[in-house]
Amino acid sequence: MSEAPMNDVSNEVGPKIIDGKIRCDACPVLCYIRDGQTGACDRYANRAGELVRVDPHILLSQALSEGQAVVPFGGQMAEWDGDILHAGGTFVTAIGAGTTYPDYKPAPFIVAAEVDGIDMVTVVTEGIFSYCGVKIKIDTDRFLGPEQSTVRAQGEAVGHVTTGEYGSQMLSLGGVHHLTGGSKKEGRVTCDTLLALCNKEAVELTIDGGATVIVAAGKAPIVNGVAEERMRVGCGSATIGMFAKQWQGKVDEVVVVDDHITGVLSEHQAGKLLGIPDTGIRMRGRKSTPGRYFQVAEPGTGWGGTDISDPLSILLPFDPKVARPGSSMLMVSTTGEHAAYFVLDEALKPVERDLPRPLQDSVARIKENCEPALSTVLFMGGAGGSLRAGVTENPVRLTQSVKRALTLVTCGGAPAYVWPGGGITLMVDVTLLPQNAFGYVPTPALVAPIEFTLRLDDYAALGGHMDHVQRLSALSADGLKRHQVTQHGEAPWPLTFHSRTDRSA
Ligand code: SF4
Repeated sequence: MSEAPMNDVSNEVGPKIIDGKIRCDACPVLCYIRDGQTGACDRYANRAGELVRVDPHILLSQALSEGQAVVPFGGQMAEWDGDILHAGGTFVTAIGAGTTYPDYKPAPFIVAAEVDGIDMVTVVTEGIFSYCGVKIKIDTDRFLGPEQSTVRAQGEAVGHVTTGEYGSQMLSLGGVHHLTGGSKKEGRVTCDTLLALCNKEAVELTIDGGATVIVAAGKAPIVNGVAEERMRVGCGSATIGMFAKQWQGKVDEVVVVDDHITGVLSEHQAGKLLGIPDTGIRMRGRKSTPGRYFQVAEPGTGWGGTDISDPLSILLPFDPKVARPGSSMLMVSTTGEHAAYFVLDEALKPVERDLPRPLQDSVARIKENCEPALSTVLFMGGAGGSLRAGVTENPVRLTQSVKRALTLVTCGGAPAYVWPGGGITLMVDVTLLPQNAFGYVPTPALVAPIEFTLRLDDYAALGGHMDHVQRLSALSADGLKRHQVTQHGEAPWPLTFHSRTDRSA
């Protein structure tokens, strides 16, 4: 059961008890929590007058070998018995570690261990990210909505459609304007949506002027109720390039229908090099370069991400000076999902016929070359603010250390990409984190685990909180509930990676 936050007028720092309620000071909400109850975020509870983090603190164990699959990731979670066979094989994550707000207090755990003969330290905290969001890559050719369109969850604006990339469409959700710049409900729904997406749950999003899409990290997107199976093999032009030789001698003309670039074999450079004769085909749309056409139709959920269901609708009448009756033509989409075969009649009109066997094989080959369609969710947040003060008394030195690659940044043990430029703005693939690694506070903001790993001597040099460093072995004696989970098989091991840092550079 959750306690409502109370207004706090005290400047006193640290948990305190008033009328049997304990004040949580792990975020600016400052909940007062009765015995047996949890705070507004369900992350902290009052257990017999003691403020405790509800979820277990997570330690990662190194996968036995590179590429080892962890199935299901998080399913192998077990209570940590405090046993450390090999210090370099245990990584202390920030998941369940708690937050020490305001951040001038040292981070909850600053843990040293010797790895390959080098003293390393990992500083962990559950960061409160008021300025964060997710970038979503949706592998589909189907039109999701116009660029810049608003993306909604539960009717609230939570983000927008951003630039479409090769075979995928991108959404940008969250960020400071939706979290804190709109109505209270908009902020709450945005926070809920980000939290669910980061914890790999399915979320239904509707796009103004576009589709409804269900997205879950690492799963196939569902567009307007239809699960996407495969992403395109390439654009229409690339498909012509890839398969031109396989079509030679089997069909006179091939049109690869694509919302971005529709390819025409006889006009394309690949067709020219193979000596494929002109067929008199004439296309709608805007010719870019020979055999490559833009805007043959409107975007949609039909053939090749266009709005067409009849492929002939993108053709103009054949040129009677060049075309000849009996010519054959394959029309196919970039995923091989749609295909049709035509033969020109005496009036040079294409008449549909059964797809000949060799062309069935080439369509199957296109399908075979299409990779599984997935939704990818990257958490993106800026850790360049006060969070750094929990690591060092001189926060800018942490940023500098990260930029010099002396400090490794991970989220729940997963590798984070840190953007160049100012601050510590990071992105992380949420599928590489253990389950339920993210939380929230009702300010609203997302709570994300973040760890900084570096050499102990570097930590001292950047003004780290050395008097709070504890050995890994000491964790077993602090009485906290800890669980151990094997790292994701695709993630590099954070300690091994960093102990190889070349100090001579
Ligand atoms: S919202 Fe959670 S972290 Fe914030 S004060 Fe309340 S219980 Fe503590």
